[in-house]
Amino acid sequence: MKMDEAGIITRYFLRETDPSLREGIGDDAAVIELSSSQLVVTTDSLVSGVHFESDRDADAIGHKALAVNLSDMAAMGATPHWALLALTLPSANDAWLSAFAAGFFRLAERYQVDLIGGDTTLGPLTITLSLLGACVGGRYLSRRGARVGDGIYVTGRVADVALLALHAEQLHHYPEAYDDSQRRTMYPEARVRAGEILTHYASAAIDVSDGILKDLNQLLTASAVGAELRIDDIPVAPLVDELCPTIETRLEVLSYGDDYELLFIMQDDRLDDLTRELAALNTAVTRIGIVRQENDLCCTWQGKKIDLPRSLGYDHFAQQ
Ligand code: ADP
Ligand code: MG
Repeated sequence: MKMDEAGIITRYFLRETDPSLREGIGDDAAVIELSSSQLVVTTDSLVSGVHFESDRDADAIGHKALAVNLSDMAAMGATPHWALLALTLPSANDAWLSAFAAGFFRLAERYQVDLIGGDTTLGPLTITLSLLGACVGGRYLSRRGARVGDGIYVTGRVADVALLALHAEQLHHYPEAYDDSQRRTMYPEARVRAGEILTHYASAAIDVSDGILKDLNQLLTASAVGAELRIDDIPVAPLVDELCPTIETRLEVLSYGDDYELLFIMQDDRLDDLTRELAALNTAVTRIGIVRQENDLCCTWQGKKIDLPRSLGYDHFAQQ
């Protein structure tokens, strides 16, 4: 079956949307009715060969394109509502498009996100997704509010994806851990509901996408503060202790990224209340350090101060 642009859009991407949407797919642009809340907007691209191998299951690509944007929304403490999808495809392949749409809409439906527009072009496989959302009660989280003396916290755990990418051979001997890493690589979960709750607790937040050290550093820079971080306290996948026993190998998995957890700053006396609220979402929270006045990131490991490598995480242009 040969499909043209309009055929692709109608067949795979035109779905019923919330009645509050004035115009959606099919007009020149979408029209959204806004109340007085603040609009939160983000965009992220996934490029074949950079963010995923060209043979990655299209269902997983559809999921991930949305999940990475949801994670940015979560880091703002915002509620996602609408998505725009700019798709560049090497061909109009029915099996690929059906699987991509299935992965995308499965996740979109969970968060009641409507696809309201986009663009479809021919070229090397690239998926650019934009997400629009709103702040709950006008509150949002930025990277800029970290206060000296507050604790540094992280949701869930990190380094599962790094283990699969950097230690796949050893990981094969542990089927359960392998499956966990595989699932988090293919189907990352964004902490959307946790982010909404954090608007009541955190003074600053960022999502962990490029590596926890690099992302923490970005938050500290934005807030013009420093920190003491205990590397030992960073919650990691269970096998990290065994497979990465030295500080060098530990820093390597911590700098890999693709974790999509939330890193945030909070007054320590709020921890009990937050722990209770996040338990309802099955989300753990761990204290990993403290914000300091001095303008640098000081890390300790087994009680000793350590030197950090120059590169703390993923950077597209540093790889060239
Ligand atoms: P225009 O030429 O006016 O930009 P298009 O033919 O590109 O219009 O798109 C037609 C309609 O389909 C628009 O409403 C656009 O937002 C929507 N659209 C195009 N591609 C996609 C896509 N991949 N996913 C969702 N909506 C899309
Ligand atoms: Mg267009």
